Amino acid sequence: ATTPTKRYSITLLPGDGIGPEVISVAKNVLKLAGSLEGFLSFPFPVFPLFRIEFSFQEMPMGGAALDLTGVPLPEETLSAAQRADAVLLGAIGGYKWDKNEKHLKPETGLLQLREGLKVFANLRPATVLPQLVDSSTLKKDVAEGVDLMVVRELTGGIYFGKPRGFGTNEKGEDIGFNTEVYSTHEIDRIARVAFEIARKRRGQLCSVDKANVLEASMLWRKRVTAIASEYPDVELSHMYVDNAAMQLVRYPKQFDTIVTNNIFGDILSDEASMITGSIGMLPSASLGESGPGLFEPIHGSAPDIAGQDKANPLATILSAAMLLKYGLGEANAANRIENAVLDTLNRGFRTGDIYSTGNKLVGCKEMGEEVLKSVDSPV
Ligand code: ATP
Ligand code: MG
Repeated sequence: ATTPTKRYSITLLPGDGIGPEVISVAKNVLKLAGSLEGFLSFPFPVFPLFRIEFSFQEMPMGGAALDLTGVPLPEETLSAAQRADAVLLGAIGGYKWDKNEKHLKPETGLLQLREGLKVFANLRPATVLPQLVDSSTLKKDVAEGVDLMVVRELTGGIYFGKPRGFGTNEKGEDIGFNTEVYSTHEIDRIARVAFEIARKRRGQLCSVDKANVLEASMLWRKRVTAIASEYPDVELSHMYVDNAAMQLVRYPKQFDTIVTNNIFGDILSDEASMITGSIGMLPSASLGESGPGLFEPIHGSAPDIAGQDKANPLATILSAAMLLKYGLGEANAANRIENAVLDTLNRGFRTGDIYSTGNKLVGCKEMGEEVLKSVDSPV
């Protein structure tokens, strides 16, 4: 009998700076993790029940695409991404294009990509690994064991609401104005994503808003509470954003999953990432209603270390794990990668950004090779 094969097509967008270095490493890790899936390994390795095969398509994006084609997101890149099962992005931008006009900035390509993929849910885990607890900006006993996920609404709220613009008030002064708008549909769908995630984590969801002041938040709280009835196994709580910002540094361990709007999520997810203190370690996922998700490290293109084989590839490798878990539903392969990262850290390997004395300092490529070893023979 032939072995059934699960085929996934992945669009790789290496981008700029350290992007190509970290993507090349993550691609190899994905390949290996996929090839090991489907085997029954006990009592002894036998026939594979199924195979996972990836086909990778690498496309230009960001500054690299600007230089090549004159636009930051070429049509072929967007349509390849839209047709794929998932998209893995490195990083985009760099000094070279910083003075470009807005529509010719690499960052504009990223906004266009998010729009084109209709991703409305941004997932950012902040986990303090025991091996890296000293990187945290918080005291050890506060940081230890932090494992939370911020689910941010990405396509609505004050960043997109109308009316917006500049004008003049009755005193003749210049004004600038923006509008926070959320519809029932927008709140319900992000709430469902968050409840689903909380259900698979520790079953606790904290919805963050400013419902004591803002009408958009009052509707937010009402809808999240209504959706909660679909998830009796998840414990829902509410918190005002000012308090949440405080609690995140006071006692972050109280949080499991946080769901919040676009602007609050923007701020809180950056705050949460600083708890871990390791920008080179942090992955993210952006999901839509259907269609491919977008997976990328939260760090930028790090032009200061680009091309020097110094980048930490773990954020991108962990983004690839999120791709498997949230993008393809391959949780087992995702766990294999996450465990391999922990194993590699346990064996003492560190890139410069997370190095401390007594560890083994390695570059991007070597770190990738060590992770491959850990994927291959987990301890
Ligand atoms: P953005 O492109 O989002 O504006 P930024 O320019 O503010 O980002 P990054 O490009 O993320 O920031 O770089 C910030 C600092 O962190 C730099 O010193 C960079 O070298 C370092 N850094 C970022 N990512 C990594 C990584 N994967 N490995 C090692 N160092 C990194
Ligand atoms: Mg930058």
